[in-house]
Amino acid sequence: MTGRSVLKSTRTSLFCRKKSVYELLFPMIWLLLLPYEASGKNKRIGIIGGGIGGLATAAFLNEDPDLDVLLFEAEDHLGGNAITIQAKGKDQKLVSVDVGPQYACEKGWAEYLAIMKYYGIFDEESVHTMPGSIGIFSKMSNRDDMAFLSPRWNSFLKWKHMANAVRFSHFYDSSRKIYTSDNKDYDGETVSQWLQTLRIQNAFKQNVIQPFLASILGISFSELQGIAVSGLVKYFVFSGEWYWRKPLNIIKKGMGTSLVELGEKLHKVHFFMRSPVSRVESHSDGKSFLLHSGTGIYSVDEVVVAVHPKAAYSLLKSSSLPSEVLQALQDMSEREVPIFIHRDQDFLPRKSRFQSFLNIRVDKTGVTTTMKLNEIDASYGDILKSWIPDIGEREKLRSSPLLIAEKTFFHPKVTPEYIKAREHIRKYSLKENVHFAGAWSAYADTQNSGVVAAWQTARRLMRSDTKEFWTREIPSLKHIAD
Ligand SMILES: Cc1cc2nc3c(=O)[nH]c(=O)nc-3n(C[C@H](O)[C@H](O)[C@H](O)COP(=O)(O)OP(=O)(O)OC[C@H]3O[C@@H](n4cnc5c(N)ncnc54)[C@H](O)[C@@H]3O)c2cc1C
Repeated sequence: MTGRSVLKSTRTSLFCRKKSVYELLFPMIWLLLLPYEASGKNKRIGIIGGGIGGLATAAFLNEDPDLDVLLFEAEDHLGGNAITIQAKGKDQKLVSVDVGPQYACEKGWAEYLAIMKYYGIFDEESVHTMPGSIGIFSKMSNRDDMAFLSPRWNSFLKWKHMANAVRFSHFYDSSRKIYTSDNKDYDGETVSQWLQTLRIQNAFKQNVIQPFLASILGISFSELQGIAVSGLVKYFVFSGEWYWRKPLNIIKKGMGTSLVELGEKLHKVHFFMRSPVSRVESHSDGKSFLLHSGTGIYSVDEVVVAVHPKAAYSLLKSSSLPSEVLQALQDMSEREVPIFIHRDQDFLPRKSRFQSFLNIRVDKTGVTTTMKLNEIDASYGDILKSWIPDIGEREKLRSSPLLIAEKTFFHPKVTPEYIKAREHIRKYSLKENVHFAGAWSAYADTQNSGVVAAWQTARRLMRSDTKEFWTREIPSLKHIAD
């Protein structure tokens, strides 16, 4: 779909045929296109990226009559990380399985759930609710030794497990203290420093806490040590106080499907699919920008960058952004998250009666985490979802008929340096007309932080009555700080 107010150019193909002549003509062609820019019409916003960050920005701006919103997505589908596939579950019936993100707990995902409800994407009936049980097993010996299991009651029959449950609750309370503080006290503190100060038995730290934290981020134990504790707690302290049967909400139709549906509801937004933006160029007027995309070159007044930091750097490196902002984007390192959807029971602990929703198997260097999807709902049958660090195990699965789907994702690494760089970028985007709305740019990298980052950006671009409209519709937006 292309919009009336869009500069669409066919010059790319002409360049290819007669490069030298068109190189000469290039500046003149721009001069022909530029007057279009200064017509004093609606403000034009260019959003780069159609994951939750970009889509939620578009969803907020869709309600503003004064804006022309253009969204550029590199792929042929919206959703970014959120990808839902159909797989055969119990009785060969097709079920929706999220390869990427899949859960949205009520407390921590308030804004995400609210905007989805506003656009009629889902209601109370659309979620599976289940206790988020966790099992941690050691793979050091031939058998799987259970280190921790919650909230299965049979696990409390032994003194060791009861004592571990109390320790876990102490660990959770300490994490919550960091979560609810304004983080200043924990600025720059790494997981390794924090674990040293935690007054819990060392064996428990080693056998339960470390595997739990490594599984949340899908990283090795050595990588875990340098992670910023204030960033990390935001990935798991999302639903309030520790409770044995803490509920998890899983979107039945899938998070990926939900985002595709959201895109379909945004009638005012002009979508450019299969249209990767390769370059953002500051205009000679010093105010607007030219977006070089796979489908042409477009002039916009404000740019919203809703892609990962590394992708953002490569788009912006030839723009007039201050070098320290570009450097901060370039310095943010990423980690690989390889996800497999499969039916291989070998990824579960052997004693089936101990299986939980999240099964964390520990070896010397790190963890393999397997979700048992039929814990969510019986209709999933024997479909499993694993983060597999071991290259040999990955290879084995790849050549097996038990593999259903595979995808490697990238997450920024939440180190203390990353948190500092992110602060820097946020401060910059408060003042300028290049804004960052990827989920990473808010408090953590989740679907809800994508909506928060989108709101932090969109509220600066919209009319004040549209802003009031949204804070009436979703009151919690009022409390989101910059
Ligand atoms: C395995 C896994 C499980 C997760 N589980 C959960 C969960 O259960 N709950 C939860 O809330 N979060 C979860 N997350 C985190 C969540 O997926 C991310 O926080 C969120 O999807 C990031 O959204 P985003 O819009 O910032 O980026 P993305 O989803 O990565 O979207 C960026 C988009 O930009 C596009 N793009 C990139 N470069 C360009 C370009 N040059 N031009 C145009 N388009 C471009 C990409 O194609 C992509 O569509 C999980 C993540 C992973 C990997």
